[in-house]
Amino acid sequence: LPLPAPRRIKALAQDVVNKIAAGEIIVAPVHALKELIENAVDAGSTALEVLVKDGGLKLLQITDNGHGIDKEDMPILCERFTTSKLKAFEDLTSIGTYGFRGEALASISHIAHLSVTTRTKESSCAWRAQYADGKLVSSKPGQSAEPKPIAGRPGTQITVEDLFYNVQSRRRAFRSSSEEYAKILDMVGRYAVHCSKVAFSCKKHGDNNSGISVPATATIVDRIRQIHGNTVANELVTINAQNDRWGFECQGCISNANYSAKRTTFLLFINHRSVESAVIKKAIEQTYAMFLPKGGHPFIYLSLDIDPARVDVNVHPTKREVHFLNEDEIIAHVCDEIRDSLGKVDTSRSFMTQS
Ligand code: ADP
Ligand code: MG
Repeated sequence: LPLPAPRRIKALAQDVVNKIAAGEIIVAPVHALKELIENAVDAGSTALEVLVKDGGLKLLQITDNGHGIDKEDMPILCERFTTSKLKAFEDLTSIGTYGFRGEALASISHIAHLSVTTRTKESSCAWRAQYADGKLVSSKPGQSAEPKPIAGRPGTQITVEDLFYNVQSRRRAFRSSSEEYAKILDMVGRYAVHCSKVAFSCKKHGDNNSGISVPATATIVDRIRQIHGNTVANELVTINAQNDRWGFECQGCISNANYSAKRTTFLLFINHRSVESAVIKKAIEQTYAMFLPKGGHPFIYLSLDIDPARVDVNVHPTKREVHFLNEDEIIAHVCDEIRDSLGKVDTSRSFMTQS
């Protein structure tokens, strides 16, 4: 017999709603990590360490030396929509920081074991707290859930353990931890290239020589060299473009016509947030097509600053996708600039071989 069609509408339990929302923001460990990196950078950190176990499913830990979190704020830190970065809806148009909705830590606390150790400059000690489902919880049964004083340096350490422990379907979807670790390295590498003056390290637990290590003093080219190798770092040109009419500025470090790879490497930052854009990537690849051998692809690091009033970062919970006004015009400007600098390099080369 067919089951009777359900027809009565019922409200989902709050914890189900929270887990669904969390699963939309954090699909894989790398998404949790991206939020944590952005928080650390927002906090003014100049050094950032990432430690990973099992592709981030067992452990994802990020330690920064930023301004820390006040002990008084710790009880509401992981509640949904608690933030120090946004007060009015209008602020979305001038937002300079990465985070703004106060959803990241809340989400993580619904699908992982989360603990936070933090110390501000003003505090005489660090404070450690554990969270579950948005709230402080005690680490041992019978103990108080209040933050506990411990010794520690200024800054914040966020420890995420057993990600998706309570979302079995998601957990089962992960085949290999090395695939997840590769995504994590890719993301840390992006921010390590972009955030000049910030030191980055990323390590697999128990493996000291894998991963990323970039000192705070490294230049952008040094950073690219560390992470992407000499071959590309030796063939880079910088580009700059700016236009008041479309309200944008762009800086980039891109491979010249001597460099050609099987696949495009595209590090794109819009208003200092790592994002993806198939449209921009395609336009740039087409620009390169006339300079590279057939099947050859470039390396592109591009940082676009667009007047925040013209950008809508709020299109998707993950903030991976960003929309802005006059996208076509801005892309055309950037591609013109790329064409110019690739052309210049070419002339100087042929000039040199002629003489
Ligand atoms: P959002 O970044 O959107 O504000 P989050 O859930 O990511 O929301 O973080 C909530 C708040 O916790 C932030 O507004 C910030 O005040 C604080 N916070 C989170 N991570 C850090 C950190 N590494 N250092 C200092 N403060 C932090
Ligand atoms: Mg955030």
